Amino acid sequence: MSKNFIGAIGAIQKSIDTNKEFLTQLDGAIGDADHGINMSRGFEAVVTKLQAEPDLDVSVGLKKVGMILLSSVGGASGPLYGTAFMRAAVPAQSQSDISKETAAQMLRAAIDGIKERGKAVPGEKTMLDSLEPAYDALVTGINEGRSFLECLDRACGAAEKGVEYTKTIIAKKGRASYLGERSLGHQDPGATSVLIMLRALTDYYRKCV
Ligand code: ADP
Ligand code: MG
Repeated sequence: MSKNFIGAIGAIQKSIDTNKEFLTQLDGAIGDADHGINMSRGFEAVVTKLQAEPDLDVSVGLKKVGMILLSSVGGASGPLYGTAFMRAAVPAQSQSDISKETAAQMLRAAIDGIKERGKAVPGEKTMLDSLEPAYDALVTGINEGRSFLECLDRACGAAEKGVEYTKTIIAKKGRASYLGERSLGHQDPGATSVLIMLRALTDYYRKCV
């Protein structure tokens, strides 16, 4: 996977860009209508800056992605995603190829970083509501001896359910929490951008294997 790092990040950027309006609409319903714009601007900056350094290893690359997101994405999601990518870089250190086990460690580190930074827990209508089930599905897949691709597909399926679940709960963190009960019925933009990125990564990996 390491030699395909730039390709994977490019696939994420394209998918975020395709879904920019959708994410912005979701955020318009319960936030300030900027999530798509924020994410798209961030990954645009990432791809532009990484193009100048095509030979980055995964760990160094992820750290750079995190720093670029931190500095270029506004709102709550910039520091949260920035932290997530920077934390995911740590288990990837000195790994020439990313195994499914390392991928699980990376996802765990990313989630823990988001939790520390944002002080949220699952069930509060945030990106954690798709990330935590995705991690659980990834680990279950590994324990069942499934292939990396099967594990990723299962993680996407679990994240999708997590996104659906966010429609049924009240926002307790971020701007959407100002709405209280009026946030019910709406899907969380951040949980949705997690799913979009995870799907883009999985579809990219499917083409590589
Ligand atoms: P802002 O809310 O500042 O405009 P964005 O619109 O870019 O930022 O991102 C909103 C998303 O950020 C929400 O949908 C939610 O998933 C996520 N979010 C907000 N606060 C937190 C938090 N404390 N922990 C985890 N995720 C959060
Ligand atoms: Mg917003």
